[in-house]
Order: sequence, then structure tokens, then C-alpha cells
Amino acid sequence: MKPKALGPIPAGFTARDGELVIGGETVSALVERAGRTPLFVYARDQLDARMAELRAVLPERIGVNYAVKANPFAPVVEHMAGLADGFDIASSGEMALLQSQGIDMARVSFAGPGKRDDELEAAVRAGVTLNCESEGEAERTLAIAKKLDITPRVAIRVNPDFELRGSGMKMGGGAKPFGIDAERVPALASHLIKAGAEWRGLHIFTGSQALNADAVIEAQSNVIALAARLSGEIGVPLPKLNMGGGFGIPYFPGDEPLDLHALGAALTEAISNLPPELAKTELCLELGRFLVGEAGVYLTRIVDRKVSHGVTYLVTDGGLHHQLAASGNFGTVVRRNYPVAIASRFDAERDEVANVVGCLCTPLDRLADKAELPRADVGDIVAVFCAGAYGASASPANFLGHGPAGELLV
Ligand SMILES: *Cc1c(COP(=O)(O)O)cnc(C)c1O
Repeated sequence: MKPKALGPIPAGFTARDGELVIGGETVSALVERAGRTPLFVYARDQLDARMAELRAVLPERIGVNYAVKANPFAPVVEHMAGLADGFDIASSGEMALLQSQGIDMARVSFAGPGKRDDELEAAVRAGVTLNCESEGEAERTLAIAKKLDITPRVAIRVNPDFELRGSGMKMGGGAKPFGIDAERVPALASHLIKAGAEWRGLHIFTGSQALNADAVIEAQSNVIALAARLSGEIGVPLPKLNMGGGFGIPYFPGDEPLDLHALGAALTEAISNLPPELAKTELCLELGRFLVGEAGVYLTRIVDRKVSHGVTYLVTDGGLHHQLAASGNFGTVVRRNYPVAIASRFDAERDEVANVVGCLCTPLDRLADKAELPRADVGDIVAVFCAGAYGASASPANFLGHGPAGELLV
């Protein structure tokens, strides 16, 4: 069987005694500690290293927010509280999580379409900045704040006329459920300010999972120009601009990491040439997968090794119910292999081609197709990398009743 390439294993993962080491511990020690597989392991040292790498290239003026939906595991969120400047949340559930960690709600902004009245009320009470997604939501927020006699903190999420593309930029506006069409933003902002809300500025999110620095740079420059224009039309100084993010990580064969130095240089240049409307504006990026994705590894044990028509299957105790994205069923058109390894034989020669599958009774449950791996047997542990974002919380853990995976921050 001709092998199919695997995605690139992120930097920083080494072997000891033949085993994969995560956060200084071998996988067998980690699995023993957790008392189980399947298991997500997130490494603090990797989280720290990633943020340090980013801070080293970013101008000091630009803050970094963590988008909680990428990984809402409470110990990860707690760790990120010490690294990030702020948090972006998308539900009152995520808000409650941050509150339970004692995180200052003044550092938090809440975006997302379809915020219910009870969510708006909780956010207004807590002093969270609400990124308004529609005129209707703005009215509901004002009414709730009036009833509570609290000044709401509001920003506006803009639906820009451009998009962040993997390669280049597609201009020309589009209908979206997110944000308010750019041309309607000044009127709504003026209305919110007149109604007595605390004006917190603009949120412009242009896309996700970009690996092309030029595309990100172009989007950021468009974001700055749009924010300056809107701010001029609103006619009051813009307190804050959330510039979005979209920084991607390499998941698949051929993916190259984002050129951070190019991004940092472009942002530094942009900061030194900011339009006058943004001279005093607080700036931030909001990043999810870029901050946490590569710090996580999904570990699953081989429970069966079988051959069908000459093809070897390594059947694991995990699968798409924990790692939907690795199975190719989370927003991908063509299934490609994530980085996968036999963690219990991490430095062994890759001398066999096998399919790694999950334990669910569906042909969708594939973790690696035609992967070149060391010969592995029942009991060996498979590692699926790039599992730190949109893994445990973005997979259908209840599907087929196997239940959720364990999670560990080390
Ligand atoms: C999902 C989301 C993010 C995080 O996206 P990543 O691709 O994980 O960086 C940031 N901002 C908003 C508004 C989002 O919806």
C-alpha cells in the first residue's frame, strides 16, 4: 500500500526511552497518571513558548486576547489568564467558566450571534464588553441595562467588506450572520453612545486558519483602514479595536507555519503609521488555535490490530467523538492526515503502512489513512498532534456512547 503523507509534527516534541515526551513526561507516565486513555494532554511549556514567540515579534502596543472556544478546559483557561491580556468568549457558559477562575470581567469581551436576553443580562451585570452583532441585539442590551440601571459596555462587531483568505484577498461584501454591515455601523454606534452606553469600540474578525502571512497582513491593513474610516464617521475617539486574528497552524502535509517575523514587522510598521483616528486606540488581536492548538496531543490506545484485504488496521479506543477535526469531518472538504505517530515507539523506524481508525461503528471514524508508522500492536499508544484546539470541546463526545476523553494540563 502506497503511504499517504502525514501532517508535520509540531516542534518541541522529543523522545525519551523510545517514548513521546509531553511537558517533560513520557506518554506512559501521563496515561498512568490519568488512569486512562483516550486522553488529551496539553503542555504548559508549549503554551508559554508560543506566547513568548508571539510577544517577541509583536509591537508592545498590540495586546493578545485568547478566544476561549478554542480550548475551554478550565486548567488551560487558568493558565492562559497569566499569559493573555484579555479573553474573547462566545456564550454565558464560557463567561461562567472565566468567572469561576476569578478572571477580571473587564478583560473579557463577548461576541457571537444569538445572544439570549439572559446572556446579555449576565454580561451587563458582570461588566463584560458586549460585541453587538445586530441592531436588535443592541436594543435588547440597552433595554436590559436600563432595567438593571447599569451602564452597559458595548462594542460593535463589524461585518467587513473583505475577508481573510488563505491566499490573497477576496474583496466585495457578503451576507453573514456575524456582525453589522460596515455602512450601518456609524449610525448604530452614535445611537449607543447617545443612549448612554459605555462605548468600547470595534471588533473586526476577518477569518481563521491562515498560514499565508501576506494574507493576514493585507487583512490587518484593511481592518485598520476600515476602523479609522468608521471611527471618523462616528466622530468620537475609538477606545478599542479588536483586530481579529486568524493566525493558523500547520495541520496537513505541505502546510508551512505562519511567518511570524513578517507579521510582526508589518504590524510594527502599521503601528508607526497609524491613521490619526486611531492614535489613542487600544489594539488587540484575538487568537485561539494559534495559542493552544500545537500544545495539545490526543493519546489513544490500540485495542485491535487486524488485516482486511491486505490492509492493516490499527483500531484505537478513541476516534472522531473526541477528535472530529482529525477525522476530516470538521469543516474540511478533502480528508487529509493530521500529524500522527505511535507515541509508545516514537523514535522507532516507520517501517509499515497502516490505517489508524477509531472505535466508532462508522466509516467516517478515521484518524490516519495509509500512514507510515513503526509496526504497532495492541497496547501501543497513538498520538494525534495539533489537538490543543477544537478537539475535546468541538467533537460529538456523546455519539455512540463511549463518553468524553480525559484531559490533563502538564
Ligand atoms: C473562533 C473565533 C476566534 C478564534 O479563531 P481561531 O481560528 O481559533 O484563532 C476568534 N474570534 C472570533 C470572533 C471567533 O469566532
